[in-house]
Amino acid sequence: MDSKPTPLIAGNWKMHCSLSEAKALVDGLKAGVAGLKDRQVLVGPPFTALETVARTIAGSAILLAGQDLHWEPKGAFTGAVSAPMLRDVGCTHVIIGHSERRQFFGETDETVNKKIAAAQTAGLVPIVCVGETLEQREKNQTMTVIEQQLRRGLLGQKGDAIAALVIAYEPVWAIGTGKVATPEQAQEVHATIRRILGELGAKEAAAACRILYGGSVKPDNIDELMRQTDIDGALVGGASLQVESFVRIAKFIV
Ligand code: PEP
Repeated sequence: MDSKPTPLIAGNWKMHCSLSEAKALVDGLKAGVAGLKDRQVLVGPPFTALETVARTIAGSAILLAGQDLHWEPKGAFTGAVSAPMLRDVGCTHVIIGHSERRQFFGETDETVNKKIAAAQTAGLVPIVCVGETLEQREKNQTMTVIEQQLRRGLLGQKGDAIAALVIAYEPVWAIGTGKVATPEQAQEVHATIRRILGELGAKEAAAACRILYGGSVKPDNIDELMRQTDIDGALVGGASLQVESFVRIAKFIV
């Protein structure tokens, strides 16, 4: 029985793309992934390009994500964007707890937890990022770090809510470095994540939850990564900024 959830290939554009660049990129993607049926494709442009991208993908199957959100629905939070605002512009998903947010913007497991709840209240699917640093991996702390990020970040999350989440395992040492985790290293952590999700919710919820791998995913490593039992997709940074590479990643072959 093949019980794998529908794969999700997500592009995190980070702080890249003017409006014209965003439009050109997504026009190319639309054409490149048209007709792909057994997987989902998502883009996460910067806030400024969300509306342009939303208009451009209208009528296609491409999904739209914000790269972050504030946990309050509105208020005096200069520079922040809320879950209802992301919904309003056409997002279905939102990336939460990316390691760059944790590293440069003071994101913690506690803020991740509040952001997940805010996203769910507004009807957005959270893509929750976890991952260890190189130092933590070298000290054999990978599984402890991942477990803590999950248990704290997902505090209060139960069965169905866990099934609907997307988790992205992104080893910090592999993001933007060209150093990809081996499929075996990634699979080992993904299996641990699924076990922990099962303990937090239920086995069925854990099986339904999509666990993406992120960290230097490229056209030449996606196929092998996607062959791993517990890898249900990818969160792609650099290679999502070019039509050709992102389309090839979306067209992974297992
Ligand atoms: C990311 O931004 O989440 C990421 C994985 O980046 P890259 O693919 O460039 O390593």
